[in-house]
Amino acid sequence: MAEVELRSSDARAAATPSAEPARPAVERTFWYAAAVLLPGLAFVLHRAVVGLSPAQADLVFMVPPVLIVGGLGGLGPGLLATVLALALHLFPFGPPLGAPGPALVTGAAFGLIGVGMAVFGERLRLARDEAAARTRGLMAREAHLQSILSNVPDAVIIADATGRIELFSPAAERLFGYRAAEVIGRPLGVLMPQPYSDAHQDHVDRYMRTGERHIIGTGRVVVGERKDGSTFPIALSVGEMTSEGRRFFTGFVRDLTERQETEAQLQRLQSELLHVSRLTAMGEMASALAHELNQPLSAIANYLAGSRRLLVVPGEDDLAMVREAIDAAVEQSLRAGQIIRRLRDFVANREPEKRIESLKTLIEETSALALVGAKESGVRVRLLLDPAVDRVFVDKVQIQQVLLNLMRNAIEAMEASPQRILTVATSPGPDRHVTIEVSDTGSGIAAEIAGQLFQPFATTKTYGMGIGLSISRTIVEGHDGRIWAEPCPGGGASFRFTLPSVVGEDLGDVG
Ligand code: ADP
Repeated sequence: MAEVELRSSDARAAATPSAEPARPAVERTFWYAAAVLLPGLAFVLHRAVVGLSPAQADLVFMVPPVLIVGGLGGLGPGLLATVLALALHLFPFGPPLGAPGPALVTGAAFGLIGVGMAVFGERLRLARDEAAARTRGLMAREAHLQSILSNVPDAVIIADATGRIELFSPAAERLFGYRAAEVIGRPLGVLMPQPYSDAHQDHVDRYMRTGERHIIGTGRVVVGERKDGSTFPIALSVGEMTSEGRRFFTGFVRDLTERQETEAQLQRLQSELLHVSRLTAMGEMASALAHELNQPLSAIANYLAGSRRLLVVPGEDDLAMVREAIDAAVEQSLRAGQIIRRLRDFVANREPEKRIESLKTLIEETSALALVGAKESGVRVRLLLDPAVDRVFVDKVQIQQVLLNLMRNAIEAMEASPQRILTVATSPGPDRHVTIEVSDTGSGIAAEIAGQLFQPFATTKTYGMGIGLSISRTIVEGHDGRIWAEPCPGGGASFRFTLPSVVGEDLGDVG
């Protein structure tokens, strides 16, 4: 991390264009010195070659110094060189030599050329400086871009219009195990397993021909292939740009391996929690359930004991009674078996599985479980089920868990109420959904918890866990439904949730 920050701040420093210094002092001094020395040198050379001559043609000797200093050194040195050159030519050792008239004209023309050269040189210098500054700016931007590409956690890959890789960022090197040099110029398909690799090339070709977009401008999850041949899930988003008439595609690639693992783990934890919460509900109900099972078992025992007595010296009537008793015992043992089977289904830890189920069966079975032990406390149950919306596409055990949570909450809320009526009603809901309502005549929802009913661990009960409603919401939303609570007009609470309903034409051959 420290390294990343360091590098990015370096890049920032490099990218901030420093204020352009007017002109380095050393360079300025150099050209002013040249402005003095070069005309002097030309004068000495001229004297050595031609001798002391005021001839106008000899002014030619002064042209190179003026051109060099003016053209390369700019305005100041150029003007100085021009003045010195003229002075040395016209006044070498005192008053002007030769005829002053023509010499002055030639001098003036030379002066004009010198000034023109100096102005031109100044412009040239400014243009040169500007170009240098621009190059420095570009280099800084390039460094900045490189640093972004090196530090951005997503891999960045740029490909040309034919799908050949042009740029492969360091993150892409880490992700795919290729060095940039190994893949630059190769088609993007090398980063995907077959058949995606061929399909990708087809997409690129089709896009270039028809403009039909497949993934450009959007993102999607695809499979990537590393250099060693291993594959992994990636989130890919692709953008398009045109630069100097050429089209490029920029892809941002994110490794999803870790995210998918985390999601899978979350899912595992959640299903574990669902299971634990069912076990908790069952644990709470265990003694009541033992009582519930005890009833058929003691009935069976009674029927069998009676039959045994009757069979000691059986008469014709006794045999008929024994037959009846055995029938009743069979019925009771079937009832006990049913309770055990439902419980086993409910408590088993299994993969969620959605099927078309009958709401009526689902609600009746669940109320049998929920009411275990509640009948004694005088709770009356009303089921108002609309047969038109009986079929739902759900995971039966999960929805039973929601209903059980809601019903047991309702029963607990009515403990202190004089009137205890639990109503479960179904009705058609919005968007081909069915609404299931569980309402009670209990204490109503406590104001302090109303805003966070469905949050985990929100409870007003001394021994409550506060996870029942939050789990119910997870399950309902996992079924594409919604759950909410309202106060009942006459007191008590009403919890409603929606589930996707299966209507006539959806049933197909399911019947
Ligand atoms: P727990 O039952 O363990 O407290 P829940 O998530 O099932 O956890 O319920 C959270 C809270 O919501 C309860 O503590 C209670 O205050 C409130 N609540 C739930 N159902 C009802 C109801 N039918 N009437 C009144 N309050 C309710």
